[in-house]
Amino acid sequence: MIDAIVFLGIQGSGKGTQAKLLAAHTGFEHLNMGDVLREQSRLSTPLGKEVKSIIDGGELVSDELVYKLISTALPADCLGVIFDGFPRTPAQAEHLVKNYRLARVYYLEIKEADAIARLEGRRVCSKCGANYHIQNKPPEKRGVCDLCDGLLITRADDSPKAIAERVKAFYKETFKLKDFFAKMGLLVAIPALGSIDDIHRMILGDIHWD
Ligand code: AMP
Repeated sequence: MIDAIVFLGIQGSGKGTQAKLLAAHTGFEHLNMGDVLREQSRLSTPLGKEVKSIIDGGELVSDELVYKLISTALPADCLGVIFDGFPRTPAQAEHLVKNYRLARVYYLEIKEADAIARLEGRRVCSKCGANYHIQNKPPEKRGVCDLCDGLLITRADDSPKAIAERVKAFYKETFKLKDFFAKMGLLVAIPALGSIDDIHRMILGDIHWD
């Protein structure tokens, strides 16, 4: 069984950023479910088009498709995996504990209003995917990526309407996973409004599970 760590939290809580840092530290694969699905949605296949319309509306894609894409995305010889954006439903959580050796679930705690402000100001590079924020992390040149000169765009699902849908889906489906993992003794809650480095250090301070 593959070792797994999960980042749980509302959209905008910084899961992706922290998962990436922890992946670099541990050598585990970082699997960002939203990115995997966005990649699918760019394909002009019937599946790609269906995924695009679901994502753009802020709804969840089917569990079966999620499992299939995870097994395709993970290299057979990977050391371990850091899931970010998975699981999102109770059925996905059951699938996870059955199929992976789950070490920890980090729950990034942030108020809904703060998360929404982060999402509304988020810009991503259309070329390399780097993340910016118009107030908290602006690029040097407005609208242009510092790393590759690509154009910065707002993700379609960061529109106010889609954000509202995503937040609704989080409270309806994902929030209850917190209790599920807490009962298993695997949940560690991390206050997530501090600096990226401070939050990373808090997580590293917990890594004595191996
Ligand atoms: P994210 O970038 O994590 O906000 O994900 C973007 C979108 O991808 C979500 O709004 C959902 O439509 C879809 N998605 C991501 N992860 C999952 C998942 N585990 N299960 C179902 N849909 C997902």
